[in-house]
Amino acid sequence: MDLNEKKIALVTGASRGIGRACAIALGKKGYTVIINYNSNEDAANEVKGIIEAAGGEADIYKANVANLDEVKPMFRDIAKKYGKIDVLVNNAGIVKDEYVLMMTPDTIDKCLDLNIKGYMYCSQQAALKMFSKKKGCIINVSSVSSKLAVAGQSVYSATKGAVNSMTATMAKELAPYGIRVNAVAPGFIGTDMVDKLPEDKKKEYLDTIPFGRFGTPEEVGEVVAMLASDEAAYITGQVLVIDGGLSL
Ligand code: NAP
Repeated sequence: MDLNEKKIALVTGASRGIGRACAIALGKKGYTVIINYNSNEDAANEVKGIIEAAGGEADIYKANVANLDEVKPMFRDIAKKYGKIDVLVNNAGIVKDEYVLMMTPDTIDKCLDLNIKGYMYCSQQAALKMFSKKKGCIINVSSVSSKLAVAGQSVYSATKGAVNSMTATMAKELAPYGIRVNAVAPGFIGTDMVDKLPEDKKKEYLDTIPFGRFGTPEEVGEVVAMLASDEAAYITGQVLVIDGGLSL
């Protein structure tokens, strides 16, 4: 990386789990990382501390990315402070497992608002900052549930299918401006999201993974950092599955 021009990366939902690992991986590669979080300031500060202890630079920013009124100021403030944004990782997402016969409107709204609208809002704001520089990279954290039918996840999988579709469409629209858009589709990864599952559900899922274990957030973070790098300069519109063979 050119030391005279540090790259700026924003990771949404970076206080915990996969977003945290993406932030740390990008920090190690020399990016100045903006750690977005929703409520857990202590956890966000911990991630900042880890990046700084390794010699990197980081900032934290509280914003609910499902709310455009909080997303716009976040991008405006980042652009004001750093002059640009090079990489956006759309990661903040929720899963709410409910069988279709018992599904509540609240679950549908919450999943759509964060997992689809949040990604759209942030992508649009990032693209508006990137297109004048004719360079940028957006990475969407999708899920293997976009490709596999997991009982109880009809809303969640629909949102992740939407993420895959927006990845391809935005990649096509933004390619003329030098902006790449890709996605990663993790399988079961050991984060709070998976820890919250009942033990019998965890065992049932583990039995379906050829590698016989859950993935680690770091294993996703490293792939995201690779996709953000210039080594991936000719990759756009793709969904890279990281699932220990689950979907084979
Ligand atoms: P997690 O451990 O539950 O962490 C969620 C993160 O998102 C936290 O940093 C949280 O911030 C933040 N967040 C939640 N709502 C937010 C909002 N409205 N605005 C901004 N930030 C918000 O989740 P995870 O397992 O790392 O999942 C991250 C992404 O990976 C999601 O998109 C998920 O769908 C996807 N994924 C996960 C798995 C898996 O097995 N874990 C598999 C496939 C895909 P606070 O700490 O402030 O609450």
